[in-house]
Amino acid sequence: MWEILKNRWRQGYRTLKFPEEALLPERFRGRPILTDGNPLDLGKCLFSPDDNVVYSRDYRMAVRKREDLILKGEEIKLATALDKKMRKLFGRSLKLRAVCAGSCNGCDLELQALNNVVFDLSRFGIQFVASPRHADGLVVTGPVTENMKLALKKTYEAVPDPKIVIAVGACAISGGPFEGSPEVNNGADKILPVDLYIPGCPPHPLTILDGLLRLLGRIEANSSRLTACKA
Ligand code: SF4
Repeated sequence: MWEILKNRWRQGYRTLKFPEEALLPERFRGRPILTDGNPLDLGKCLFSPDDNVVYSRDYRMAVRKREDLILKGEEIKLATALDKKMRKLFGRSLKLRAVCAGSCNGCDLELQALNNVVFDLSRFGIQFVASPRHADGLVVTGPVTENMKLALKKTYEAVPDPKIVIAVGACAISGGPFEGSPEVNNGADKILPVDLYIPGCPPHPLTILDGLLRLLGRIEANSSRLTACKA
């Protein structure tokens, strides 16, 4: 027992103060920067080391509409909050069911990382649940393979209304590296109405956390300041 207490003392407090302490290492590939004036689609698979793209260290990239992922200048239209009624329902407590619809598991691992002691997602009232019957919405990863299409639809139908859908990663947004294959559906919004798009391959847990809190109106638009839930 004494050893456990000593270890705990040595480790200190490890949970990241978000967003104040959301500092990322030099090698982090955040939002791409336009270098030649040509638009960039953040919903595509742009985040691999082979891409000829320059990256900032800004992790904020989640948007509400697919077209807002087309980067045309410096600014990006970051996700706005759900309407007042939805915020009242989900603002303090949001339960999500994750559906891996044919992903490589990269995005799923980043979602799991949100539950670790560093990001501690549940302190914001957001939790992953096992059953769609207990969920307020779905988090979809992967390009939605033909094999997973029916399962995704059935899981969506099992979530009680009103519900939300969040597409995480390039695959769930556009098909990612699998785009155009006859075995995939090129993203979740070809099958379901999507409320939040979180780009990346895979997105960093901070990108996901920022998007979720913006959707719930817990981060002021165009800022990184956390606010109390007002709904
Ligand atoms: S977006 Fe990238 S990391 Fe996520 S499932 Fe697709 S290939 Fe894997």
